Amino acid sequence: MAQKIPATVVTGFLGAGKTTLIRHMLQNAQGKRIALIINEFGDLGVDGDILKGCGDETCTEDDIMELSNGCICCTVADDFIPTMQALLERENKPDHIVIETSGLALPQPLIRAFNWPEISTKVTVDGVVTVVDGKAVTEGRFAHNIEAIDAQRKLDENLNHETPLSELYGDQIACADMIVINKSDLLTKDETAKIITDLKFNSREGVQVVTSTMGALPIDILLGQGVGAESDLASRHKVHHHHDHGENEEHHHDHDHDDFESFVVDCGEIKDEKAFAIKVADIIRKYDILRLKGFIAVEGKPMRMTIQAVGPRVDTYFDQPFGTSPRQTKIVVIGQTGLNQAAIISALTK
Ligand SMILES: [Zn+2]
Repeated sequence: MAQKIPATVVTGFLGAGKTTLIRHMLQNAQGKRIALIINEFGDLGVDGDILKGCGDETCTEDDIMELSNGCICCTVADDFIPTMQALLERENKPDHIVIETSGLALPQPLIRAFNWPEISTKVTVDGVVTVVDGKAVTEGRFAHNIEAIDAQRKLDENLNHETPLSELYGDQIACADMIVINKSDLLTKDETAKIITDLKFNSREGVQVVTSTMGALPIDILLGQGVGAESDLASRHKVHHHHDHGENEEHHHDHDHDDFESFVVDCGEIKDEKAFAIKVADIIRKYDILRLKGFIAVEGKPMRMTIQAVGPRVDTYFDQPFGTSPRQTKIVVIGQTGLNQAAIISALTK
């Protein structure tokens, strides 16, 4: 069976910075062929025009589809599904699909659409990325320009839910696999720490919260989350207060700026691969690691074990014999700048 094409859903209110984030992603696509589905109305055509002008050869105008008949969650059957089907019938299939919702859409019905028989065998939701306006949220609003969002709502004849902004915001946060706090340059360190804590508290376990000024996230942080969100919708409805709140000092580390860093840890041979995977998941939670990957030498095993983690979800499998290559355990750790490298290295090698 052919592999499913991963689809990333980008949600967040008008003005939060979704288009900037997507544009940055297209300009740094590293050869990945990305198809875009944009759900916009109100400021008709603007996002599409901005993105079509990106000039990247891996993203042509044919790769951008606009759903302008109204709210994506209210027009799933008439608009979204047929567009997806047309995209999936193409000969030249994309490597990845990115769907930008208008921000008025409820993310859950859109994710549920991926369970429709026509597309469920061909696509999977790689992850839900929710972009928030850090400044607006800190000031107790949800969006920079609430009047513009109301105007957008009035223009949409097909929108059939009167969901208040606060509820929409809660839904977008509850559905997220990654939350991007945008415009973080307008926040003080204390404000940033507080919003990160609040968002983690109000979102799913294992959600990745990152800060950004202009949506400038590396593509391998944004895409490739491998979540399969359509299979765990039940966990994306209500807000689950799950965290050992206040216990984890590491969540309050200072983000000096919005860059990302990575480093390699040499761990030597591992005695018990299952115990190691559990330990890695704990370390990822404790130190806010975004991605972790590498190869592991397990005592007494001729095969090399691959480890890949997105947030605290750790996958391991034996991929090939070491053969003549050195039996090493080398792990790459990726996170936002400010990782406590010394503590992570010590925890991994302990
Ligand atoms: Zn809707």
